[in-house]
Amino acid sequence: MISDSLEGVRALPIARSVSDLRAIVDGWKAEGLRVGLVPTMGALHAGHLSLVRLALSKVDRVVASVFVNPTQFGPNEDFAAYPRDEAADAAKLGGAGAHLLYAPDVAGMYPPGFSTAITVSGVSSGLCGDLRPGHFQGVATVVAKLFLRVRPDVAVFGEKDYQQLLVLKRLVSDLDLAIEVIGAPIVRETDGLALSSRNAYLSAEQRALAPGLYRTLRRVGADILGGGRVDDCLAWGIDELKALGFGPVDYLDLRDGATLERLDDAPEGPGRLLCAAYLGKTRLIDNLGV
Ligand code: AMP
Repeated sequence: MISDSLEGVRALPIARSVSDLRAIVDGWKAEGLRVGLVPTMGALHAGHLSLVRLALSKVDRVVASVFVNPTQFGPNEDFAAYPRDEAADAAKLGGAGAHLLYAPDVAGMYPPGFSTAITVSGVSSGLCGDLRPGHFQGVATVVAKLFLRVRPDVAVFGEKDYQQLLVLKRLVSDLDLAIEVIGAPIVRETDGLALSSRNAYLSAEQRALAPGLYRTLRRVGADILGGGRVDDCLAWGIDELKALGFGPVDYLDLRDGATLERLDDAPEGPGRLLCAAYLGKTRLIDNLGV
């Protein structure tokens, strides 16, 4: 069934089954329209909507998917608690100009007997790949399924999840998928905190501390570009985060912006400072081009 999202609000169609999704996308393709896909896990904020707008600037029709994918959460992670609000998401997507919300359920995505997984080696290793075993395999598998179901010309992902973006670019390139993967800049609060659905977990006190993550990244980046020894700058950054109230700090590292290889010296080409750190029980990630 294709249902409308909210009464009184621009009626954004919602497809839940593959057949409904295909019927709509096939219709667009028959008209010669180009299709974009913005995969999300819902609890949408302005960062997600910026991806929709970027997609709209590239294609004629935009599908946003909302699927809280169980296979990318570890056993002790927040799958059950992850915020879900489909009605609000549909209203926001309609307001941003998306044309279709694709919201499959878990049983439809992973029917009994489902046995296939996609592993992207290389860029999946290190950083979040080491700290969240199985995470990028879960992401690569579900995104491959979304690609095959939607068959977009363009897919937009945020640089907020920088390692994920590189994993998915690798996937598309290695499997010869005819999809242009576009990375979108990180949308931040005015105090610098990167927007994230998980920011909702922060207490008022933690929320006041949270912008320290981005401030620290900027300071470390400036020190490296100013000629500081990379190791010293990173060690200072980790100490600073702990002094600000973060901990544990999963990683703060300087990597090559395209391959994620570790850089021991200031980058000659585009580098990326990447960080994951806890504030209380909430794990925040952020990154900065250097
Ligand atoms: P999620 O719902 O967390 O899986 O994120 C869905 C997409 O939105 C991913 O491509 C994220 O990188 C992207 N995204 C999340 N937060 C932001 C942000 N603050 N700015 C830009 N993109 C974001």
